[in-house]
Amino acid sequence: MTIGIIGGGAAGMAAALAASENENTQVILLERQARVGRKLAATGNGRCNLTNLHANEGSYHGDAPEFAAFALEKYNVQETLNWFRSLGLFTVAEDSGRVYPYSDQANSVVDVLRFALERPNIRLETGFEVEKVKKNGDMFHIEGANGTFDCDKLIIACGGLAGTKLGGSMSGYKLLRAFGHKCTKLRPNLVQLKSSWPGAASLKGVRANCHAQILHNGELFAESRGELQFTEYGLSGPVIFEISRDVCSDRGDWTCRLDLLPEIGENVLKTELLRRKNTNLPVSELLTGILHNRLGRVLTQSAGISGYVPVNQLEDYEIDAVCRAVKGFDVTLTEPMGMDSAQVTAGGIVTKDFDPETMESKLVSGLYACGEVLDIDGDCGGYNLQWAWSSGRLAGSHAGGNT
Ligand SMILES: Cc1cc2nc3c(=O)[nH]c(=O)nc-3n(C[C@H](O)[C@H](O)[C@H](O)COP(=O)(O)OP(=O)(O)OC[C@H]3O[C@@H](n4cnc5c(N)ncnc54)[C@H](O)[C@@H]3O)c2cc1C
Repeated sequence: MTIGIIGGGAAGMAAALAASENENTQVILLERQARVGRKLAATGNGRCNLTNLHANEGSYHGDAPEFAAFALEKYNVQETLNWFRSLGLFTVAEDSGRVYPYSDQANSVVDVLRFALERPNIRLETGFEVEKVKKNGDMFHIEGANGTFDCDKLIIACGGLAGTKLGGSMSGYKLLRAFGHKCTKLRPNLVQLKSSWPGAASLKGVRANCHAQILHNGELFAESRGELQFTEYGLSGPVIFEISRDVCSDRGDWTCRLDLLPEIGENVLKTELLRRKNTNLPVSELLTGILHNRLGRVLTQSAGISGYVPVNQLEDYEIDAVCRAVKGFDVTLTEPMGMDSAQVTAGGIVTKDFDPETMESKLVSGLYACGEVLDIDGDCGGYNLQWAWSSGRLAGSHAGGNT
């Protein structure tokens, strides 16, 4: 039996390895880029956050997130770590539960998968972009500019649209639509948020630990705590990625409220700032030693205080205004950055037309899909790659007749 797999990313490689465990199957893995795992090599800022010890069904989204439960249970985090260990990868977990290769290099993950693909019953074709697929009788026919392939079973693992420069494309959605599958609206997720606030550019590159709340028309929409990074266009960093899903999807006012000293109460801050009134520091230095200098200056300005007044001339109500700015700084949001900058696609191929226990299409027998192309996306922190490994291995092992 021949199994065709389109897409040599995380899910496609996992599927190929699982399918090839049946020595009687021949696997053809087709990747349009010059090498497999190109996006994988760029994940986690080049470190590859390959899973998360806390992964569970609640970390996933989509119209029917429960679709992911079976795959995530069968190929759970511990099982995934054992699998990677069997491929020769050493890993290490951070306190947050995020797991990275021990080498701290995403390329290590790509390499162990790449080496494992060197099995007699796997044929890897890179630089092969699949343009068309159809089913003739019991066989699937695959066409690309460089040739054609026929196979008994077909797995679509083309990924999503996010990370366009690293290979994200519409391809998988188009190929599955040709078989009658439907696609939900696609949105960028785990993405930077743009702001109309002119001060953002002056803080470019500044990082801060914060508690961030997204407010829609004044109502709490999402919140998280962690590292924030200011960019030329607005807000970035893990804390923003975590709460970026569907921000600015509706009309109305979208604001990000930042508590830039989440571990310290307003009273403690106020006491410290009042103590500083005994000095003749310029007000631009009021928050020195507490926050990043540039951030401190922007916050005192936003509290309406000129940078040249000495601190000992400040009124108490002005100290209160600075405290309020530190503990609840509002940044107006305009839109998320585009798919280019997003780490994952929210939305995708409708999952109700697939069997969650096999990843096989309910519309076309022998057709499978896995990974980001489906309408499942995970939180920030290794959850999306865990979905790629779990769903890819489930599809591959079922298509290969190993279950
Ligand atoms: C910058 C960045 C950082 C990220 N960091 C993390 C992280 O640290 N942890 C985490 O869990 N997730 C992370 N993600 C998300 C994660 O990388 C993806 O969710 C995951 O790679 C999806 O796996 P996939 O196999 O479905 O798709 P992909 O990994 O995108 O693989 C799909 C493959 O299919 C190929 N392909 C597409 N169409 C065709 C075609 N027609 N013919 C042949 N080949 C085709 C593509 O070239 C690609 O190689 C990150 C994403 C980005 C963009």
